[in-house]
Amino acid sequence: MSGMRPTGRLHLGHYFGVLINWVRFQTEYESYFSIVDWHALTTKYQDTSQIKANIHEIALDWLAAGIDPEVSTIYVQSGIPEIAELHLLLSMITQQNWVEREPTLKDMVRMLAADEEEAREKATYGLLGYPVLMSADILTFKGELVPVGKDQESHLEFARGLARKFNHLYGVDFFPECRPEFTSTPLLKGIDGSKMGKSANNAINLADTDADTTKQVMKMITDRTRIAKSDPGHVDQCEVPWPMYQIFGSDITEQVRTECESAQIGCVDCKKRLAGKMNDYLRPLRERREKFASDPKKVEQILEYGNKKARETAKKTLAEVRDIMGLHNWKND
Ligand code: SF4
Repeated sequence: MSGMRPTGRLHLGHYFGVLINWVRFQTEYESYFSIVDWHALTTKYQDTSQIKANIHEIALDWLAAGIDPEVSTIYVQSGIPEIAELHLLLSMITQQNWVEREPTLKDMVRMLAADEEEAREKATYGLLGYPVLMSADILTFKGELVPVGKDQESHLEFARGLARKFNHLYGVDFFPECRPEFTSTPLLKGIDGSKMGKSANNAINLADTDADTTKQVMKMITDRTRIAKSDPGHVDQCEVPWPMYQIFGSDITEQVRTECESAQIGCVDCKKRLAGKMNDYLRPLRERREKFASDPKKVEQILEYGNKKARETAKKTLAEVRDIMGLHNWKND
């Protein structure tokens, strides 16, 4: 089980850091992938104007990446009210100091505003409960393996702690203790050499055109010591194109090294060739994306189908949770 907040289009960092694993896992495990729109509200509650559009865009990116809706369950968090119910029930057994000491919370609060006082005013009860909601996301589907980024590790520890506490309190062995699965791909650099990020304006998006991609590649930082084309380059000091060649041009890396280090090729031509390699690699993804983008009704049907499947599982889990907790299972659904 895993999810992403609908906060904008996905870039290559998301693809190589997360999505590529999801595509692999979907054939090995029963998989649930959630567009977690309630999570988007924890920090963006004042401006909700883009959430619906972003849900559609992220679904297109997932489908483009190869998540198969016939194999995996793709759904939208807010379509599954049982997650909210489990969030509430889990919040009753969550100690206050557990959420307060959550290390990522401070970073999220800092993201809300420029100074600490304003950030404190903007931070809400919902934001404080973020790790409880994430635990509910996982536990509703009894997720055992959670493919996430390294920055989410503490949240998974939190979910494990809650599962343990629930099982212990009510004397059951009901919720599994989930484990993270981190990607083996190193953090992808953006065109400026820093971590690729949506807001850093240094990303190459899955939805970009060939021309957009080429334009971004031509701006990539190379070997800063190489001034003229006749200067021999140093691939190990080439900040972005060389690491990108490892991913997109692994068949010609030795050729690139030789040509670079003997000054047979300039950085402009080298980057043009890299852009060609990247566009070749990304073309099937982009064609798939375009096909789905031309049929928005189909994407809506995919999400409705996924919500229906996810809800069946969620209803079953919640009926059992209510029984375990000694609550009434009302027949009003
Ligand atoms: Fe990097 Fe290519 Fe320039 Fe060498 S020639 S520094 S590998 S962009």
